[in-house]
Amino acid sequence: MNKIISCNNLKKSFYIKNKTLNVLNDISFDIEKGKTTSIVGESGSGKSTIANIIAGLLKPTSGRVFFENLSIFDNTSVNKASFVKATFDKRKVFRKNIQMIFQDPYLSLNPKMRVLDIILEPLKIHEKFSKEKLLKIADDILQKVNLSSTVKKRFSHQLSGGQRQRVAIARAIILNPKFIILDEPLSSLDVSIASGIINLLIDLQKNLGLTYLFISHDLKVVKYISDSVSVLYMGKFLEKAKTNQIFSNPLHPYTQALIESSFTFRKNQTKILLNSEIPSLLDPPKGCLFSTRCPFAKKICFDARPELKEIEKDHFVACHLVKDASNTFGRAKTTSSSL
Ligand code: SF4
Repeated sequence: MNKIISCNNLKKSFYIKNKTLNVLNDISFDIEKGKTTSIVGESGSGKSTIANIIAGLLKPTSGRVFFENLSIFDNTSVNKASFVKATFDKRKVFRKNIQMIFQDPYLSLNPKMRVLDIILEPLKIHEKFSKEKLLKIADDILQKVNLSSTVKKRFSHQLSGGQRQRVAIARAIILNPKFIILDEPLSSLDVSIASGIINLLIDLQKNLGLTYLFISHDLKVVKYISDSVSVLYMGKFLEKAKTNQIFSNPLHPYTQALIESSFTFRKNQTKILLNSEIPSLLDPPKGCLFSTRCPFAKKICFDARPELKEIEKDHFVACHLVKDASNTFGRAKTTSSSL
């Protein structure tokens, strides 16, 4: 795999009144260059924490993150001065190449700035261009995101939701980044507007060679846009696979429940319902994290935590009862296209 991002043994804990909240529990994963990797899971599973760590907005409690071969959180140098300089130089490279698009463009765009200033701000920090050159780049970028140049003088509150998210995309791509984190970028948009944004993101990826980390709880969009999918639950991956494998043969009961709650199935399909709450991170189950909600839980599930195992090529599952790809817990296999 040609990796652009590697996360190794990431842990993130928060401390509340002498109690420890482990939001990420020792997770490792790679993101392939030029592809879209999605992370799915319920609210509180740790999706946005991963996004914020990779974007450099949050420091992990332990573990390392690499952008290409550059360690983003590296504090091992004994020479403080060179460490500070190295960190500054490294940060500049990584800030230029890793961009993030947030859930709500109404909140992520500065309401006191005009569109022109919003999209040019990153460029002014990283490059020294003449005013004419900046205006030319701004016009080109607006064209790339299908916005008329007449929006340049407007403030964000004078734009529609779709226009605002296009401005956020323009700001993210203006530095020619290699990698973009999309943190629920469609959830504040109407369906018709969202489909236009999805197609724009796909076109930009094709034309600019971008790599995406797509974070969402909307599995229909995930299925459409992703090359691979990782399922996160209480800060641990329960299943990881290529998109087609996840949707045609989900092996973990939690993945099955998520998919079945998003798509309509035939009458005789076994349905796993997520009808109880996700446990508190302050008091997680000792064994399998999903054991308190899993209809198939056995004694071993309450005693020991299953680790991710490769069940078939590129398909990893953390479940004591899944020994091979034919164990579907009574759920008939389906073709990905029939969903
Ligand atoms: Fe369910 Fe046990 Fe598998 Fe966990 S390990 S998902 S509790 S069957």
